[in-house]
Amino acid sequence: MIDDINYEYRTGIGTDIHRLVGGRPLKLGGILIPYEKGLLAHSDGDVALHAMIDAILGATGLGDIGMIFPDTDPQFANIDSKELVLKTKEYIEHKNWEIVNVDITITLEEPKLGQYKAQMKRCIASLLGIDFLNVNVKAKTNEGLGEVGQGLAISAITAVLIRRRLKRTL
Ligand code: MG
Repeated sequence: MIDDINYEYRTGIGTDIHRLVGGRPLKLGGILIPYEKGLLAHSDGDVALHAMIDAILGATGLGDIGMIFPDTDPQFANIDSKELVLKTKEYIEHKNWEIVNVDITITLEEPKLGQYKAQMKRCIASLLGIDFLNVNVKAKTNEGLGEVGQGLAISAITAVLIRRRLKRTL
């Protein structure tokens, strides 16, 4: 691609984990998943979106989710994480960064996410303003190992590529 030379590219990685508890809705990848438990957090606990926000901030070198959206701040209590993604996007766009693609892996024993992956991809692509084909969502179990394996928590890891146009120096 001839125009690659005009861009600066960076990658980032983000992880997150939250405890599964009764009496909370389960939000993953921006959508509501029918299940008897949900993720305990100051916000809605969407580990996939939180890991993605950390990956984006990591790539830009602008810190981490806890710095931008402190969990001690009442304005973020029970906030829909989609709003945090939109704020993050706005924040990095001020620095001229744009997101190229994201790759998300969610690790959980239950429920099975196969039938929800396309909806998550559509939701994330629309939040980021990128093509559906540039968003990948994978789900896997932890083979019964550790807290995630025992069904006590759900975790996520996300990689992201971002770019910004280089200014010409004449
Ligand atoms: Mg989190």
